[in-house]
Amino acid sequence: HNHIDHATPEKVMQAVANGDTHAHVPDYETYADYAAEGGYETLATLRTEGDWEAVQDKILDAGLRGLGGAGFPSGKKWGFVRGNAGPRYMAVNGDEGEPGTFKDRYYLERVPHLFFEGMLIAAWAVEADRIYLYMRDEYPAVLEILTREIAALEKAGVVEAGYIELRRGAGAYICGEESAMIESIEGKRGIPRHRPPFVAQVGVFGQPTLVHNIETLHWIARICREGPQVLSGTEKNGRKGLRSYSVSGRVAQPGVYLLPAGSTILDVIEAAGGMAAGHEFKAYQPGGPSSGLLPASMDDIPLDFDTLQPHGSFIGSAAVVVLSQNDSARDAALNMLRFFEDESCGQCTPCRVGCEKAVKLMQADQWNTGLLEELSTAMVDASICGLGQAAPNPIRMVMKHFPEEV
Ligand code: SF4
Repeated sequence: HNHIDHATPEKVMQAVANGDTHAHVPDYETYADYAAEGGYETLATLRTEGDWEAVQDKILDAGLRGLGGAGFPSGKKWGFVRGNAGPRYMAVNGDEGEPGTFKDRYYLERVPHLFFEGMLIAAWAVEADRIYLYMRDEYPAVLEILTREIAALEKAGVVEAGYIELRRGAGAYICGEESAMIESIEGKRGIPRHRPPFVAQVGVFGQPTLVHNIETLHWIARICREGPQVLSGTEKNGRKGLRSYSVSGRVAQPGVYLLPAGSTILDVIEAAGGMAAGHEFKAYQPGGPSSGLLPASMDDIPLDFDTLQPHGSFIGSAAVVVLSQNDSARDAALNMLRFFEDESCGQCTPCRVGCEKAVKLMQADQWNTGLLEELSTAMVDASICGLGQAAPNPIRMVMKHFPEEV
């Protein structure tokens, strides 16, 4: 756990001051590099003569939707938050705990200032008094980059000292759920809140709060600078936009691939260098474990928001995991349910007890499919948040698409 110690903002600042930086910090675009290329000019112009509604229109025209998993149209949130009296806050969700997702890290380790500028544009749009940047603690290099670059932004006068408050997560998956993240920011145990009220009305410390994911903000900066067509200009299979797919599993070159939003799994595998040697495509997780598993035969679905819904799945944060003939779909689903069992916050019974019960049932030689189906229904209907509601997806999809394994 040395790296966790190393990553506290105070210690990182001390380490940076001593010239002792983290060994794994990659080369990235610093404040000076970014500013030299015209970075922060958009923000400066908006701050002096900008019209937030014109920016909102651009974001809506681009078709940008939240890239943390839920896919809510990004520009719309601004109006909801502004509709409530201040002080208003902004909370950035950098928890990125969805297994298989590593796109936010990818961008932050390369071009952190696109994210920062997008964040400051959004904060300007809702007149946020303060920004809480909630960052996954398992990314020590990212924490170091953010700490250094927040200091650079303060020094350059882009933000006042203390305006951006970097908060470390503590490894709980549920803290990627926005209301649980807010509880955690407030110093409490990270458990999801009931809604309504929504966080746009009652968020951090009871104040209206704008929540955006890291990659969403990266695109807000790009849309403001390059125009809405940076996203809306790409069309494939009837879908507009681009998606950053985090691709792992049995492919030749796992990594983050920016592809048209209408890409199918075959396009994604091709971008990742094809299947790894000796592996034949068998199944895939389209967007994190909550999205379950689809068989290789369903290879023509655009992997985008809404398109997977008829198949009982969703794209989420676009974490694609590719399985081969060497993998068991049943074992993969059991692994996913073990993860949910571990990560359930325990607040509500259908999820807390349901995940535990599901794991037990899935360990049997032969699955009791009737009971698992009944349990799934109870979990979907009665869980408070998305974790418990989506946890049965892998169970149901394996029963449907891989009945011979269960
Ligand atoms: Fe917690 Fe699970 Fe209930 Fe969500 S569904 S509030 S994770 S117990």
